[in-house]
Amino acid sequence: MRKPLVMGNWKLNGTKESVTSLVNALKEPAAQAPSVEVAVCAPAIFIGLVESLAKDTAIKYGSEDVDVHTKGAFTGENSPEMIKEFGCKYAIVGHSERRAYHNETNEVVAAKYKAAQESGLIPVLCIGESLEQFEAQQTAEVVKTQLKAVIDMNGIKSFENAVIAYEPIWAIGTGKTATPEIAQDVHATIRAYLASFDAETAEKVQILYGGSCNAKTAPDLFKQPDIDGGLVGGASLKPLDFAAIIKAAEV
Ligand code: PEP
Repeated sequence: MRKPLVMGNWKLNGTKESVTSLVNALKEPAAQAPSVEVAVCAPAIFIGLVESLAKDTAIKYGSEDVDVHTKGAFTGENSPEMIKEFGCKYAIVGHSERRAYHNETNEVVAAKYKAAQESGLIPVLCIGESLEQFEAQQTAEVVKTQLKAVIDMNGIKSFENAVIAYEPIWAIGTGKTATPEIAQDVHATIRAYLASFDAETAEKVQILYGGSCNAKTAPDLFKQPDIDGGLVGGASLKPLDFAAIIKAAEV
């Protein structure tokens, strides 16, 4: 049985004050939902603050990205070891915004996934198709190619220590959530593809849905057999909405 995971992705948002009130507001909803893992991924500069706020609570946390290097002349980057040192459990890799605005290829994403795992972080691998690819019915092909790059570099067993987030790009921040049927269909495709390499691993891996997941859409999405929770952007900045999404994931 896979534990549901509800993870916030704050993106480029927050102040010391808003981060403090958000994490404080999540303490109770997280404690009241022991069947759900609750996590927030914060901008790197706030991770130390989240560490102190989340201490002795049920809230786990992570980074929104990670560098492939462990140290050196890479100005502005954060290494997996640095992120781990601040108590992070997770590191998002391959978010579509990183792929689009920072030219991250499938190979770069696979290397970031590797670097995260080598430092003891759980990579949250984001995959998903553009609107154009969705309309051309290329979704299955796109997500399989994105997964294959990671399998080629890290092996199928690496997914025993990773999370996948299926995020159709056309649904991110647009208010257009994929229907539960569309999302389930893609999640089942992802799991079947992984199972073609190793059935046991495929059965264990958590596959989150992301893309305008909110208090209204989460309940039906989370009822789907292959949807194991959500990666939530906009709604994760609103404590009441995020709390409702956590509640929707309870089993
Ligand atoms: C995301 O950024 O991962 C995301 C799913 O954003 P939103 O929920 O705002 O669509």
